[in-house]
Amino acid sequence: MDSFEYRNNRLHCENVLLSEVAKEFGTPTYVYSRDAIELAYLEYANALVGRDDDMVCFAIKANSNLAVLDILARLGAGFDVVSQGELDRVLKAGGRADRVVFSGVSKQSREIRRALEVGIHCFNIESEAELERIDAVAGQMGMIAPISFRVNPNVDAGTHPYISTGLKENKFGVAIDDAERIYLRAKSLSNVEITGMDCHIGSQLTELAPFMDALDKLLILVDQLQAQDITIKHLDLGGGLGVCYTDEVPPKPGDYIAAVLEKIGDRDLNLVFEPGRSIVANAGVLITEVEYLKHNESKNFAIVDAAMNDMLRPALYSAYLDILPTEINEDNTAHSYDIVGPVCETGDFLGKDRTLSIEAGDILAVCSSGAYGFTMSSNYNTRTRAAEVMIDDNQMYEIRARETFEDLIKGEKLLPKG
Ligand SMILES: *Cc1c(COP(=O)(O)O)cnc(C)c1O
Repeated sequence: MDSFEYRNNRLHCENVLLSEVAKEFGTPTYVYSRDAIELAYLEYANALVGRDDDMVCFAIKANSNLAVLDILARLGAGFDVVSQGELDRVLKAGGRADRVVFSGVSKQSREIRRALEVGIHCFNIESEAELERIDAVAGQMGMIAPISFRVNPNVDAGTHPYISTGLKENKFGVAIDDAERIYLRAKSLSNVEITGMDCHIGSQLTELAPFMDALDKLLILVDQLQAQDITIKHLDLGGGLGVCYTDEVPPKPGDYIAAVLEKIGDRDLNLVFEPGRSIVANAGVLITEVEYLKHNESKNFAIVDAAMNDMLRPALYSAYLDILPTEINEDNTAHSYDIVGPVCETGDFLGKDRTLSIEAGDILAVCSSGAYGFTMSSNYNTRTRAAEVMIDDNQMYEIRARETFEDLIKGEKLLPKG
């Protein structure tokens, strides 16, 4: 996390002290580095220089704040969306509709209509039933929908079962053995146009091999389809590239793309990538204040003001996130702590067995929180969702105000009296 570093024992995001962000905006607060987001995106874009029709479509479920989308749109990014809400966010942030791919296993008719109205790049279809629905909706509108099928190549991404999506038993995509038949079915329909093929085999992959195995399988299918007079114009390899949370050494986007380009050879295929985590995970931290230290006989707890409703990943799939003091005070005694939140669930923890020299009132930074952090947050325990702040050099910008109680109950109504 190069955009986050200690200087004189104080943790900075770019040229701003994280303790200052806490003073200004309170805690818990998500803090992002503009520089880190841009650099991560450019690692992809620069590896595709000269290939003007390729697209890097940021998977916005990882972080959908309008300011984040705006920063990426200004660099020319495309976007991968999984709902109409996400599509509307992209448009609101100034992203181009013709650079949007629409993924997800269950696109509703109104979502399909909206996507056709605004003119997205492609629907990434996940089932035959969805194909029929898209064809029907496009027919009612007198339009032709550009489509791709998400092919499930049956490769093991070697990642956590909850974030592995490319195996036969997963709900995602169409089985590779079925794909040719389904493409032929699509060819016979009058309101869809086959433009691409896509896959997404999982998340937090730390090896290239599963990506390459999937690509090999997809290329065989591309050739089989060509023999049936179906031309695939773009190949979308999804997202999934891992990041370093502790000591993982995932492939660099540049090396990954170089390996893909080598395999593609001189085929006339445009490429699409859908990175989420690898663009934003290490561009953000969650800052939180230590409320109480509790020393039990067998365990020490640091109870902080952020909880599983703010950052779900540790509770959901045992994700490990580094937790650092924003100011190192060597006078305090080091203890091993479980860092826990105020929510009434045993699963409410942010980290376990962390050796820290801290006291109540200290501000901690939960690292690598830029992806699947705020977007997975909830109001469980009637907790208002955190503020979000973007750091740009020595400036801090509040890009989402902390929710209020009034925001939270908006829309709730009592029954009539009597
Ligand atoms: C979640 C998702 C992504 C992004 O995955 P990351 O691991 O965050 O890069 C891309 N494409 C699809 C279809 C997804 O579901």
